[in-house]
Amino acid sequence: MSIRPILIHPDPRLKKVADAVETVTPELKGLAEDMLETMYDAPGIGLAAPQIGILKRLIVLDCVKEEDAKPEPMVMFNPEVVWESEALNTYEEGCLSIPDQYGEVERPAEVGVKWIDIEGEAREAKFDALWATCVQHEIDHLNGKLFIDYLKPLRRQMITRKMQKLKRERARA
Ligand SMILES: [Zn+2]
Repeated sequence: MSIRPILIHPDPRLKKVADAVETVTPELKGLAEDMLETMYDAPGIGLAAPQIGILKRLIVLDCVKEEDAKPEPMVMFNPEVVWESEALNTYEEGCLSIPDQYGEVERPAEVGVKWIDIEGEAREAKFDALWATCVQHEIDHLNGKLFIDYLKPLRRQMITRKMQKLKRERARA
């Protein structure tokens, strides 16, 4: 396993629609394990393959926040929202591709999601609370959408300028 570098917004690869996965190959399993390791190392609660420059429909997440709680790593190939609640929930979201920037995003409070798991089995489950927000945020990445796209244009531009500055500083370092 290895930790992969995470792309920072703005990057054209973060704006693309990712391709569906046809078969869960050993290479893709290895990629999913790298993504989990990268996510835990960051640390973060979710990561989508486009964030490490791979335009495949693959996300990983673990929204267990309590320090001493058992981890619940999830790997989802081709995740798809099949149902969403009318009730909405607002969370202050962040993103590993937009470090240290946060914004309130309103999304369905509960969603039903179907996906292919790391063993290649079809799965379906309902998510609520932080898990619901996180899985929707990660699926958005597969469609080239970032949480800042939900914010007001001025706020989005301000964050984008900060990220451009951060990237220039990192390039110089
Ligand atoms: Zn993100």
